[in-house]
Parts: sequence; structure tokens; C-alpha cells
Amino acid sequence: MSGEDRFLQERQRMVDLQIAARGVKDSRVLAAMRSIPRHLFVPISFRDAAYNDCPLPIGSGQTISQPYIVAVMTELLQLQPGDRVLEIGCGSGYQAAILGTLAREVISIERLPEVAGMARENLASTGIRNVTVVVADGTLGYPGGAPYDAVIVTAAAPRVPQPLLDQLAEGGRLVAPVGSRDLQELVRCTKREVGISREYFGGVVFVPLLGKEGWPE
Ligand code: SAH
Repeated sequence: MSGEDRFLQERQRMVDLQIAARGVKDSRVLAAMRSIPRHLFVPISFRDAAYNDCPLPIGSGQTISQPYIVAVMTELLQLQPGDRVLEIGCGSGYQAAILGTLAREVISIERLPEVAGMARENLASTGIRNVTVVVADGTLGYPGGAPYDAVIVTAAAPRVPQPLLDQLAEGGRLVAPVGSRDLQELVRCTKREVGISREYFGGVVFVPLLGKEGWPE
């Protein structure tokens, strides 16, 4: 079997055993996870582990998230094909590629220039063209593109940054890991006419969100 065929087979198993079997139901999310070649978003030395049930190092002390967590957070965003999405914490660009497959346009913010450069290369090698990677402090959001139908934070935040809530459209959803530096809980904030509703979805562990509205650098 060729390398690409093996990766394809491993990817289908990843979705069946790690994601669908654990309760992710959204067929568009499952299809996106079946299609995006995750092995192109990890360093070459980790390629054989790309479809394992865990996060992996991507350099600069950062990680690519566990596939299951990517799927859960994406499902919570309830994306429509016409949506515009803001991601904070581009990392490898893998989550951004999934978002780009499901939405119209994605802006993904990364604070480390070398990581942003890697993400741009990974996205280009996958042929994803509707994701723009911006180097900035994402805790301030990206006002130039607001309002967003969905916002996803993929680094651990001490609280939901207020600028991100401000930049959410009415009816918009924000998903973030919020808590201490060691352990967080996934929260979904939905912006309503009268305020913001919050729902909680269990414990997760992310690398810290560093910045003005995050942890001190
Ligand atoms: N979504 C990524 C995983 C994120 S890892 C993926 O699919 O691979 C978290 C990333 O958030 C790291 O690359 C880190 O540098 C970045 N980060 C941390 N604080 C940030 C901030 N204030 N603004 C933007 N990016 C930030």
C-alpha cells in the first residue's frame, strides 16, 4: 500500500474510532475530518503518529490538538456554509483547515511569527484558500473583520476575552477552553438579543493563551 493510501486508511479509522464512536454526530464535521490530511500539519518526524489519539508537538513549545477535541469544538460552533469565523491560536493550521472546509471565510490569529509561517505552508500544501493567517495578539480579536458568526479559541484562557465577545455577531457562537493554566473547561457562549448564554462541556488541557486579555507573557 502506498504511503498516501495508508494515511487515508488511518484517517478513516481515526474518525470512526476516536470521533464518531465517542458521540460526535454532525455529518459535515465528520466529513471534514475524513478529508483533511492531518499528516501534512505535523512535523515530518511525527507523521507516523499523525492519526493517533493525542496532541503532538509542532515546535516552538506548541502542539496540534487531539483530533477528538478538534471535532468536539468544531461541532459546538454549529457552522453554516456562509459563516465567517475567527480562530485564536492558529498553531499548525489544522483546526483552521477544518473550519475553512465548513465555512465561507476564516481569519486565524497566531502570536508566534515562525508558527504562523508554518501554518501558511501547511494550508497551502493542502489547497485551502479561504483561511488568512494573521500574526497578532488574538486576545484582542481582529476588529477589522468583525462581526464573526463563530469564534474559536484554541489556547487556554483565564477567562473569555471581552473583545472576542464584542466581535461576535448576534446569534454567534464562541467556544473556548477557560480555567487555570493546567486544566480548563470548554465553554460555549452564544450571543443573544438580550445578553450572552453560557454552556459547559467538560475538562480539557491546552497550552496557555498569552496576551493582553490572556495570561501574562
Ligand atoms: N489550533 C491549533 C492548536 C493551537 S496551539 C492547531 O490546530 O494546531 C495554541 C496556539 O496558540 C499556539 O501556536 C500559540 O502560539 C498560540 N497563541 C497563544 N497565545 C496567543 C495569542 N494571544 N494570540 C494568538 N495566538 C496565541
